[in-house]
Amino acid sequence: MGLDVRTVMVMFSMLAFMFFCLFELASLRVGSIRGVRQWAIANLCMSLGFSLAYFYGQTTPGHQWAAVVGLTLFAVGTCLQLTGILAFKKQTIPWGILILFVAMTICQGIWFSVINPDTRMRAIVNSLLFFSIYTVCARALLVKIEASQKLAYWFTGASFAALALLMLTRAVLMLLSPDAEVGLHVNTSINTLPFVVASLLEFSVAFGLLLMLNHRLIADVYQMASRDALTGAMNRRRIEEEAVRLRARCIRTGEPLAIMMIDIDFFKSINDRYGHPAGDKVLRAIADIAQKSIRAEDYFARYGGEEFCMLLTSTTESEALDLAERLRLAFAEFTLTLGKEQLNITVSIGVADSSMVGLEFADMVTAADKALYCAKENGRNRVITYSSMGAGTTF
Ligand code: GH3
Ligand code: MG
Ligand code: MG
Repeated sequence: MGLDVRTVMVMFSMLAFMFFCLFELASLRVGSIRGVRQWAIANLCMSLGFSLAYFYGQTTPGHQWAAVVGLTLFAVGTCLQLTGILAFKKQTIPWGILILFVAMTICQGIWFSVINPDTRMRAIVNSLLFFSIYTVCARALLVKIEASQKLAYWFTGASFAALALLMLTRAVLMLLSPDAEVGLHVNTSINTLPFVVASLLEFSVAFGLLLMLNHRLIADVYQMASRDALTGAMNRRRIEEEAVRLRARCIRTGEPLAIMMIDIDFFKSINDRYGHPAGDKVLRAIADIAQKSIRAEDYFARYGGEEFCMLLTSTTESEALDLAERLRLAFAEFTLTLGKEQLNITVSIGVADSSMVGLEFADMVTAADKALYCAKENGRNRVITYSSMGAGTTF
């Protein structure tokens, strides 16, 4: 192979150092996302490991302690990649396995480099050790994936899986070729190709980790832009987006869509009497009860102020009326403790469905709002359906 592996090692060392700087800078601005700092230090270890690989390759036979320390740095770097991934996914870190892996790498490194030098055996044992840790990394990435970040997880997981496969192939090839010469100063394909491919795959992993960070940040920004900060419910913008999607689905399937507008009764007087923070507490409690009472396929949003909106899929107005009644009773039975006082809250609800007003979200909101207004007019703490308001109701 006409490739000067030592030059490649120097280049990789510099590249890994750049990734270290990149992850380090990223870690300063990622807020509550964990794991990025570990990825930075992992790349620093890799960079130093590549430098030692270069140093090792400068001498024939290689400087044995450079091999031991270099290998240890790669082992620690890989463990840090794994701890970073698990921290990123908020999973527990198997410290025992990691310590065992690093200890075994150091022991076999010292044994086959210093005490009983055998470069070929060292390469075989190393390959098998790294095969196992790369498999653990791939598994950590390919199971329990957040749906919005699948692609990034798959990319990084596939890079680790390829690394694992490469290490296994290398171990098998070395076992099958007892006369093969090993080391960075040896220019044979069986020796140098795995070094170069493994190094490239390491960068593929680093790109994958950056991609994961990027996707997580996008998901977080989307979450912030689509959720109401006070109650955690969807905001108006998000439910409008969902309504467009649901409209297309209902046109396709012919299923009905029901809407519910919920408004807290005399909310202003709660604010006036108990203060704004107490009003906020009421809003959170109402949202909490409502969230728990809907199905996974339904949508609940804070539409504005103390008004909430629900979109119920495959639901008719009379089915929505049943749910609305149950909700109204649940709110009425709920008691909020504010200091020494007990506060009871009631709501008024307007219900409509697509069979009378069509699937345009604005039209559905107008119809449910009319029914809600009617509920307020008729004394509050009640549910009114749009269809019960009689003919002649237009919007
Ligand atoms: P009605 O029974 O007719 O609905 O009367 P109401 O007092 O509930 O309605 P009104 O529209 O007069 O008052 C709504 C109040 O909701 C006024 C506003 O200060 C309050 N509000 C809106 N957003 C928030 C919020 O985020 N937190 C708190 N605490 N109050 C809010
Ligand atoms: Mg109100
Ligand atoms: Mg209102």
